[in-house]
Amino acid sequence: MSAPYPWLEAAWQRVLSTKARPAQALLLAGPRGVGKGALAQAWAQALLCEAPQPDGAACGSCAACHWFETGGHPDFRLVTLQEKAGKEGETRLATAIEVDQAREAVDFVQLSTYRAGFRVVLVDPADSLNLAAANALLKVLEEPPLNTVFVLVSDQPRRLLPTIRSRCTRLDIGLPPVELAQQWLVGQGVEDASNLLALSGGTPLDARRWSEGGELDERRAVLEGLARPDQVDPVTLGERWKAVSPQTWHNVAFKWLGDLLAVKLQGKVQFNRDFAEVLARLGNKADLEKLLALAKAQANEGRILAHPLNRALQLEAWLIQYRHLFD
Ligand SMILES: [Zn+2]
Repeated sequence: MSAPYPWLEAAWQRVLSTKARPAQALLLAGPRGVGKGALAQAWAQALLCEAPQPDGAACGSCAACHWFETGGHPDFRLVTLQEKAGKEGETRLATAIEVDQAREAVDFVQLSTYRAGFRVVLVDPADSLNLAAANALLKVLEEPPLNTVFVLVSDQPRRLLPTIRSRCTRLDIGLPPVELAQQWLVGQGVEDASNLLALSGGTPLDARRWSEGGELDERRAVLEGLARPDQVDPVTLGERWKAVSPQTWHNVAFKWLGDLLAVKLQGKVQFNRDFAEVLARLGNKADLEKLLALAKAQANEGRILAHPLNRALQLEAWLIQYRHLFD
């Protein structure tokens, strides 16, 4: 099997080259949407494969590969955010990896392996481990049992406990070259690849996701409000925005503020090129100090804003603040 995505080829070869003596804890760090998770999965499968290819990659057809691909390899554990039932019966992703999950992984690595090879624990996103979970995991990272490999994936490695970070061999995955990402998006049948790539800040997997499903419609619903701060009623718009997924809302608003700042400081739009004119007008009008404060709050509070409690109220308060930028 080759690298999961063409821009990961160099990183993939580097990881594979360690297969004879793999790092006991590998941290794959870098921006979201570049395929770190897929790389981690490919690495786990390569370690578990029982008939690997000459370069060490998984064969994709042995029994171990079959179990891995169907999610049932007994020597593999994925520690990730769990789905939970929300108040209205909807499924929501938990906001943290809980200590029970970490303890289960710790117990798992103490068992003897089912097959003769490695045992792999993949933690993704590792920065979502809550403190208790991180501490539970730290204990085994300090003295990992034989033939055990931990792979941690993180968009925000600075949020990891320094003691966890220091136990890991770190591999940084950067943004792919624009041309390569664009080529891949075109190959995936994505229309308007260049615009979407700019919108997603250069992350091809986000760009593809944006091109699917209703995210573009949601984006438009948010942008139409942001583009006309003098005409919107915070209460009405807050209600309407409530229907937009919190993550999308956060991303769109964050990039919009980023563009207003870019207009102000560099005279150009970075993300929302299709709104360049509006952004130029608004950016020039906006108060820099207030804009910086709002952008900073947005960056820090992204997770809190994503909390559904009093969502409409939160959005309304945010809009009032946003409107004051242009007083
Ligand atoms: Zn195999």
